[in-house]
Amino acid sequence: MKTEKLKIALQKSGRLSEESMNLLKRCGIRFTNGLGKLRAETENFPLEIFFLRDDDIPEYVSDGVADIGVVGENVLAETEKAVRTVEKLSFGRCRLSLAVPKNFDYRSVKDFEGKRIATSYPNILRRFFAANDIGVEIHSISGSVEIAPSIGLADAVCDLVSSGSTLFSNGLREVETVMNSEAVLVSRPNLDAGLQKLLDKLLFRIKAVKAARRNKYILLNAPNEKLSEIINLIPGMKSPTVMPLAETGWSSVHSVINESDFWEIVENLKNAGAEGILVLSIDQMIN
Ligand code: ATP
Ligand code: MG
Repeated sequence: MKTEKLKIALQKSGRLSEESMNLLKRCGIRFTNGLGKLRAETENFPLEIFFLRDDDIPEYVSDGVADIGVVGENVLAETEKAVRTVEKLSFGRCRLSLAVPKNFDYRSVKDFEGKRIATSYPNILRRFFAANDIGVEIHSISGSVEIAPSIGLADAVCDLVSSGSTLFSNGLREVETVMNSEAVLVSRPNLDAGLQKLLDKLLFRIKAVKAARRNKYILLNAPNEKLSEIINLIPGMKSPTVMPLAETGWSSVHSVINESDFWEIVENLKNAGAEGILVLSIDQMIN
């Protein structure tokens, strides 16, 4: 019997490509992705990868050409295809925002009434203004949206922003966030049991990789008389591992800490007498 494979669609080349491929690699899936290749077979997981334009991914997944895919929530919301969001992936973060020329005297979203707005996201924008009960003229263009006001094509734009530097260098000011977005794993609605099992297996690994990214492994040496104080500073997975060092009176303490409060904790540990603090990244973490 031919073994069933899960077909996944990834962005071919663009902002999501590298992180999408890295995620699969961190999940222990080996594949070769030659430049310009549209398909890749994987060696040690029943997966087949298709490399596509990101705009096409929701459609390929909803049509069943691919079973699952990695795509930005922004593209998902714009295309309105029947796919299921399985997991947020914590990369490709950006926001879809409205921006106006610097000399636009902007006070509230009502100031857009009757204005011409250039965007590559006409569906999302139409819904946004309908919900706010504001009438606008939407000009749908496929790229270089940020130059539309300076060439007289529009009064404002709605575009993806991460740092805001593109808007700034085009004389635009971000005034409203229409939606926040990150990359997500999507699936077609009705996977058969065999494929669903493969997806669950992949998801188990993805969650382990995501958890690992949020955490660091920390090792340090502590004088025994400071041990309880130091242990109290470390909110570990359970409780930290404590082992005696060869030198009497000293112990080695190991634990896992959250990346977000890691600097704070390290500083406190040092002040409490910890020495030789090592912080390592974690590849996978299974709780
Ligand atoms: P394709 O050729 O595949 O159609 P594209 O040019 O439409 O690519 P990219 O610019 O590569 O798309 O962006 C892909 C996705 O990356 C976006 O849809 C969005 O979800 C995410 N993204 C993250 N940060 C940004 C940003 N600063 N600008 C644009 N997209 C971003
Ligand atoms: Mg695209």
